[in-house]
Amino acid sequence: MPDDLSDVRHQVALANRMLANEGVLDAFGHVSIRHPTDPGRYLLSRSRSPALIESDDILEFALDSEPVEPPTAQLYAERVIHGCIYQARPDVMAVCHHHAPPVMPFCITGVPLIPVIHVAAIMGDSVPFWDQRDDFGDSNLLVVKPEEGRSLARALGAHSAVLMRRHGATVVGRNVRELVFRSIAMCQNAEYQMRALALGSFGPLTPGETKLAAAIPGVERPRHGLPRSLIAIVFLASSGRGGVAPKPLRRGRVRLPALRRKSMERT
Ligand SMILES: [Zn+2]
Repeated sequence: MPDDLSDVRHQVALANRMLANEGVLDAFGHVSIRHPTDPGRYLLSRSRSPALIESDDILEFALDSEPVEPPTAQLYAERVIHGCIYQARPDVMAVCHHHAPPVMPFCITGVPLIPVIHVAAIMGDSVPFWDQRDDFGDSNLLVVKPEEGRSLARALGAHSAVLMRRHGATVVGRNVRELVFRSIAMCQNAEYQMRALALGSFGPLTPGETKLAAAIPGVERPRHGLPRSLIAIVFLASSGRGGVAPKPLRRGRVRLPALRRKSMERT
């Protein structure tokens, strides 16, 4: 991989670690970023737990989700989620697939996830629900075949996220800043929506509120990076569930501890 991709590889690793820190990604799930100069490629880690990912783990894939160079490590089985969405959505520059606990009740029940707090306006008016059985009948619920990835991308449509029945969610962004913020805010919204249900009935933000509240300074910038300013936004918006925030290094970077533990195969 050429050296000019080193910063993007760092951003992919950083986004994985931030979302793992916030409880969005657990031992599974993954974040990718579209190649900054070749829209026909994207960058994704080898199969590894998100909290452990380092820049050296990041590999380059074509949009058919085959690695550009012969792999020497295990790959995520569900990488077609990324490739098929990048094929279907030229505007998408970053993708996160996760199985975060707050969204799982919505994936199990099919109850609509609606924006109920202002920071979650960034997820849009609604989140579509993808039932894999509609196209494929009974399956193991994973998304590993190109036709499964294309079906998921169709369900996503022009939305910012899609719920996957009995599985998890996939979130997209116009840049990795937007993706990270949206992924965290969506999980917070899911938690608050469930808690509010215990108190009484309520509706979503109005369409006008959703549109106005979705414009978050610092997230819509065209750059794809995750500078220190966004880290501040993310941790202000976070539940604090994930523990200690990463310590900033020079040039606004975040320390990625050199963890060397081997991890299990990831999907
Ligand atoms: Zn999955």
